[in-house]
Amino acid sequence: MLRIGQGYDIHRFAPGRALVLGGVTIPQPTGLLGHSDADVLCHAVTDALLGALADGDIGAHFPDHDPRWKDADSIELLRQVAARLRARGGVVQNVDATLLAEAPRIAKYAAEMRAKLGAAMGISAARVSVKATTLEGLGALGRAEGIAALAVALVEVPDADEDNGGVSS
Ligand code: MG
Repeated sequence: MLRIGQGYDIHRFAPGRALVLGGVTIPQPTGLLGHSDADVLCHAVTDALLGALADGDIGAHFPDHDPRWKDADSIELLRQVAARLRARGGVVQNVDATLLAEAPRIAKYAAEMRAKLGAAMGISAARVSVKATTLEGLGALGRAEGIAALAVALVEVPDADEDNGGVSS
């Protein structure tokens, strides 16, 4: 059967942090604040996979009070969740993600983000879409106080997976 999942995340900018989006480090003076590397795009994609499985969320699997995930590489967290999905016989069909960012412009990094996210999930970059939109100056995101990300994932799981209620955490 096919299952759909959605993910959403938001992080604020802070000085002295690296900006990592979709596993790609973007050179600029401020990055996003978070317990892990604060890769907001990666977090939204990870939550979309977990959502498709009705398997909790990234905070449940990788608590932000757990020192193991301090400054964690979020691509590695996505890799772990994708492995968990495969262990249930799941296959990621495609992911579509949108960054909500006034700055920086990410178009020139999108191909590398798609490749990194795809590799972490064990799928081709052709199955991963990364888009971005600005906020037209509206609200906190429009003032470039942070970046948010939305993602949806379509996952094929064995029909039998429904029998366990689709919840495993
Ligand atoms: Mg996050």
